[in-house]
Amino acid sequence: MATIQNPTPDTNLTDGMHIVVDALKKNGIETMYGVVGIPITDLARHAQEAGIRFIGCRHEQSAGYAAQAAGFLTKKPGILLTVSAPGFLNGLTSLANATTNGFPMIQISGSSDRAIIDLQQGDYEGLDQMSIAKPFAKASYRINKPEDIATGIARAIRAAISGRPGGVYLDLTTALLASVVDKDAADKTLFAPVDPSPALIPSPESIDRAMKLIAGAKKPLIILGKGAAYAQADDTIKEFIEKTNIPYIPMSMAKGLLPDNHPQSAASARGFVLENADVVVLMGARLNWLLSHGKGKHWNPNVQFVQLDIDGMEFDSNRPIAAPVAGDIVSSINAFVAGLATTPIKASDDWVKAVNDAKIPNDEKMKVKLNNTDLPMDYFSALNAMKKVLDNYKDMYIINEGANTLDDGRNVIDMYKPRHRLDCGTWGVMGVGMGFAIGAAVTSGESVVAIEGDSAFGFDGMEIETICRFKLPVTTVIFNNGGIYNDSHVDLSGRGDPSPTTLMADAHYDKMIEAFGGVPYFVQTPEELSKALEEGIASKKPTLINVVINRTCGTESGHIGNLNPKVLSNK
Ligand code: ADP
Ligand code: MG
Repeated sequence: MATIQNPTPDTNLTDGMHIVVDALKKNGIETMYGVVGIPITDLARHAQEAGIRFIGCRHEQSAGYAAQAAGFLTKKPGILLTVSAPGFLNGLTSLANATTNGFPMIQISGSSDRAIIDLQQGDYEGLDQMSIAKPFAKASYRINKPEDIATGIARAIRAAISGRPGGVYLDLTTALLASVVDKDAADKTLFAPVDPSPALIPSPESIDRAMKLIAGAKKPLIILGKGAAYAQADDTIKEFIEKTNIPYIPMSMAKGLLPDNHPQSAASARGFVLENADVVVLMGARLNWLLSHGKGKHWNPNVQFVQLDIDGMEFDSNRPIAAPVAGDIVSSINAFVAGLATTPIKASDDWVKAVNDAKIPNDEKMKVKLNNTDLPMDYFSALNAMKKVLDNYKDMYIINEGANTLDDGRNVIDMYKPRHRLDCGTWGVMGVGMGFAIGAAVTSGESVVAIEGDSAFGFDGMEIETICRFKLPVTTVIFNNGGIYNDSHVDLSGRGDPSPTTLMADAHYDKMIEAFGGVPYFVQTPEELSKALEEGIASKKPTLINVVINRTCGTESGHIGNLNPKVLSNK
């Protein structure tokens, strides 16, 4: 397909940008998130004209979080569009987050002149983007020729959603975007890959080995991870858990796969079940830091693991896996349910009772915390005011970030539907909230409540304008205790500076949304918070609730203070 230099007026022509849009359309891409500028402004326009929704954000990082939220919710890659060098780099944290969390996403970026970049002659926004993206992406490609556009996009889609999903980088040079070619020839190159996310059927031996191990367990436990949520095997997972009566705990983004008030949920006896379980079945969950690597005082030292994962490289990464099951969760869990006919599994009444008994004192302790009536509110009383409302909106999408806001929010706010909770995930990254809220609202067309710490909100607060511009039904709730962690720290500067963890406790974040025509609330009591939340949700209008909570509540680094090095000083 020759690039046409001097086209005559009657030739039927197209260009690189249009071919990119046509190829995305051919692959069923319906939405793109991004920030426009040189050289991709017209690409976004062409996409919009072709019926692809373009959600223009205020920062590439948030746009990338929105795209990966869409990817997690739909099993289709979310698309982030960025400009060259600085915009590309701004998007990279989100790309890395997608890769780390296993969310399918493609960052498509314009890039400057290869010849000038390669000879380091100083181009406008010049950067060797494809190479830089590599360590942060599952795959990183560049398309150099217009006849390769359809292949490049097909490869990016396959890389994003086959096997363990992840972030993919796709570099489009300015020369490629501007190339002019014959339209009929270009149209002939278009295709959608067949079965881009193929099933991975587990071997019968691996299923048999795993089921025998579980059947022989005295104290079996299932841990559901976000890989299981992603797989969309909801009914079969529920069937296996209910038929076997095995207690389970959900990792935070697997909450709602079964409703959190399910009698077999051992979430409030987490410590007890980890210390005691003799066989743990990991379903789409990794034994990473979030599970203390399966080692140490939190775990029964003799525990044996069954692990269901699509990625065979995951097994034995932290602890030896006695029964690895390499397969996609849909296929693996189907095989498990079918296998119950020949290998029946039933958790013993003794074990189930012991787990239920262990929940009682913890549930009681939680009740006391939730019903604290002190003012200003603390995390628990504020979350309880929200819970009372949210328990009536069981299909609400919940976004949650912050330190204590996340840790306590995860424990207090119950989920009832799969894939309705999005949070900091595997990496503990802050600044995901507004992007996730945008991605969830755009993808589902439904209401979203974002529960944000004041510091977490600060990373991407400008996206409030995006939420208002697109009139998204997002209620953002800011737990304002005036600080990173909290505002209980003293000034050590000797010059009256705020401490490193201090933010403005008297800040009126609510005023921010007023600037963009959204609905503000400033609340100080649980009653005011419940009422504002109820009104915000009912209105379906962009709403921001600034919740005053006690400056001293919350602990440094939330539940993971042990990871925070404190050697000689204890200030
Ligand atoms: P969590 O943080 O909830 O514990 P992780 O992100 O650590 O979850 O683990 C998710 C795991 O699920 C990853 O190891 C990933 O390879 C796996 N996974 C993702 N999608 C699928 C799928 N469709 N089938 C099987 N495993 C999957
Ligand atoms: Mg705070």
